[in-house]
Amino acid sequence: MKAVAVFPGSREVRVVERDAPRIAQPDQVMLRMLDIGICGTDKEICSFEYGTPPPGDDHLVIGHESLAEIVEAGPAAGRLRPGDLVVPSVRRPCPHPGCRACRLGHQDYCYTGDFSERGIKEAHGFMTEYVVEHERYLNLVPPDLRDIAVLAEPLTIAEKALEQIFWVMRQRPPWLDPETPGEERGRGLSALVLGIGPVGLLGAMALASSGFTTYVYSRELPPSPRIDLVEAIGAEYVSSQAVTFADLAEKIGNIDLIYEAVGHSHFALAALRVLGTNGIFVLTGVPGLQAFVEADPARLMREMVLKNQVLLGTVNAGPDAFASALADLGEFRRRWPAVVRTLIAGRYPPEQAPDLILGRPAGIKSVIAFDAPA
Ligand code: BGC
Repeated sequence: MKAVAVFPGSREVRVVERDAPRIAQPDQVMLRMLDIGICGTDKEICSFEYGTPPPGDDHLVIGHESLAEIVEAGPAAGRLRPGDLVVPSVRRPCPHPGCRACRLGHQDYCYTGDFSERGIKEAHGFMTEYVVEHERYLNLVPPDLRDIAVLAEPLTIAEKALEQIFWVMRQRPPWLDPETPGEERGRGLSALVLGIGPVGLLGAMALASSGFTTYVYSRELPPSPRIDLVEAIGAEYVSSQAVTFADLAEKIGNIDLIYEAVGHSHFALAALRVLGTNGIFVLTGVPGLQAFVEADPARLMREMVLKNQVLLGTVNAGPDAFASALADLGEFRRRWPAVVRTLIAGRYPPEQAPDLILGRPAGIKSVIAFDAPA
């Protein structure tokens, strides 16, 4: 069967032939991979800046955003059956008995760093025709989400962040009522999204659909389909080439939430200076190495203390975030059907993966499908 793999030693990215996997444990299932999304992390892996093959292998099969169909289930896989659609999670637990997070099934909060991540760190990924996986790492997808469920994994980043934000906001100003329905929890609050890539756009959709007055700030200038998308969901786009952070802050008023989805440290630092009173700053981007910048830590610290601010880093996601992402994808389609139709830029065969990953992203999300016409 075919797979798309990166070879860090010889610095190559190519389609390889591999043996099809077999079910080896009773709780495992066989997946036929339907859609595999391409993201910024894949670009870093294929530029040899990130990612590690499994121990003893010279290559890593990439792909961590995916949608699959179950084609065979082991005898102890009681929850899922052939024909079911699933989205696999990405991270697998570390082996250490003392890691409370991993032992409780919360490997997205692993303490030791010895977790693996499929398609990223020490475990082969999903950009291949068939995969064998333990049932417990799979999230059941409603059949009517077949065409967009590959977006669930990138949306889990925002969902995990939102879970934490709302938990914090319930304990302190503006004292959200836990009974408030999801779509109203952000009402009266402002959110600023940094970045207009898929994580930023899906984050903006999640924030706007939770009632936040949402702004998206990035370099891009119109005309752009991404900017059109921002406007179509009732959010406001502002280009950093036209408006400074200071002017942006003046326009928005108190910025209650900043959702960073760029992975650029200088930009994030500049944004921290405009975070409002009782504001929460969420960092989701993993920056590569960047030049040093001068900062004024005393001023930053003073502002953060005097304004009760929260700085929150968040990575990966657990089953609750996957469930929320799948529910929200359905909700996005109800609210913004035309927008949702534009999210997937196209489905391409695996031979095109290297160019799509390393080239400039076209549209919003490019997807690899093994049955796409060449
Ligand atoms: C993935 C996460 C992963 C993170 C860090 C992201 O692109 O979506 O699942 O934990 O990269 O490796």
